[in-house]
Amino acid sequence: MLASNLDKNKYKNICLIDTNAKLAPKIKVSGGAKCNITNELVSSKNYLGDRNFVKELLEKFSKDDLLTFLNKNGVFPKINPKIVKGTYFCNSSQDVIDMFTKLTTHIKKYLNTTVLDVEFNNHYKIKTDTKLIEAKKLVVASGGLSYAMLGASSIAFDIAKKFGHTIEKLEPALVGFTVQKEQFWFKNLSGLSAPVHTFVEGKTFEGSLLFAHKGCSGPVILTTSLYWKKGKIAIDFLPKKKLESFLTGNKIISTALPLPKRFMQEFLASVELEDKSISKLTNEDKEKLKRLKYYEFPPAGNFGYTKAEVTKGGVNTDEIDHNSFESLKQKDLYFIGECLDITGELGGFNFQIAFSEAFVCAKELNKYRPIKDE
Ligand SMILES: Cc1cc2nc3c(=O)[nH]c(=O)nc-3n(C[C@H](O)[C@H](O)[C@H](O)COP(=O)(O)OP(=O)(O)OC[C@H]3O[C@@H](n4cnc5c(N)ncnc54)[C@H](O)[C@@H]3O)c2cc1C
Repeated sequence: MLASNLDKNKYKNICLIDTNAKLAPKIKVSGGAKCNITNELVSSKNYLGDRNFVKELLEKFSKDDLLTFLNKNGVFPKINPKIVKGTYFCNSSQDVIDMFTKLTTHIKKYLNTTVLDVEFNNHYKIKTDTKLIEAKKLVVASGGLSYAMLGASSIAFDIAKKFGHTIEKLEPALVGFTVQKEQFWFKNLSGLSAPVHTFVEGKTFEGSLLFAHKGCSGPVILTTSLYWKKGKIAIDFLPKKKLESFLTGNKIISTALPLPKRFMQEFLASVELEDKSISKLTNEDKEKLKRLKYYEFPPAGNFGYTKAEVTKGGVNTDEIDHNSFESLKQKDLYFIGECLDITGELGGFNFQIAFSEAFVCAKELNKYRPIKDE
């Protein structure tokens, strides 16, 4: 959270308040400690929320703008499309944190300080667990509900509600699915991963699925979870392959199909099909095998906020000025980042949009800065 006392010549009088002892804990753990910071292929289509707003934002501060900014400050992310196409990873997440630490030396930091409540009476009174901080302007950038162990709290939504904002339904996203009884066989495959296609709400995604002791996870499932609305999803376990081309000859099913034997045994048991010779398959057996191409099921739920990389939903973006991120309900109050109702797929899209929002907001706030550069 950023607060500022922008009286005459007081540009230095900006403070950052964070419950954590160190800056940017999510950046630190992101992308396996290599921070997947943006994506070559980013577009508004990678987001849930007001896509026109996202499009405008990405025009105002694009992935190229972000990369230029990072390069200028000594951080050089590289494309590594191993997990998701177009992803840019840094050499180390710590490089990004060090960069921000250097760039914010002039900002007073209240770390280990938890914001409990905010009141407005001519100016903002920010009540924390250690002190009262007073400010003319307040930027709320306190994220969503995911990963409370890294400092997440509901404070952004509490403040937003207090000042009359609508909060679009909050849910864990970029998270694994728990399964119902019929899919308990997934659990027996815990640790196994497979390249698949998923189908959800009219969208198709490709990537790696990881069977887990609670159900399924892995990059493609995380993105699928962003669009899931409690109904069914489907999985193609033989992506880019035709099932029929494997249904000839005398081999037994689990050997004929190009899938791990362990997987085939669990799958066959789940559809009650004996592992017999391909030549002995009946039409009914072939129908059962077709489920490999379109395995439809309703997940039971998801792994929850403790495992979700992000929170979908949030402060309604129609109630925010798109050119400044100032609340349309309350003067001098701004919301940026994950607390807003814009959520990206897995692959660097969430950092990109958080930085785009921060840039647009900061540019507007800079107009009030009496000293431009020091
Ligand atoms: C494990 C993990 C890995 C991820 N990897 C990636 C990735 O590689 N690429 C990507 O694009 N996205 C990734 N994300 C998502 C990304 O981290 C978030 O979308 C992004 O950090 C949101 O930025 P933000 O500034 O809005 O919120 P946050 O980064 O969550 O920052 C909010 C800050 O507010 C502080 N805060 C909260 N409540 C209070 C309070 N009451 N008082 C004081 N301070 C408070 C928190 O301590 C925190 O430091 C990952 C998320 C997780 C959990």
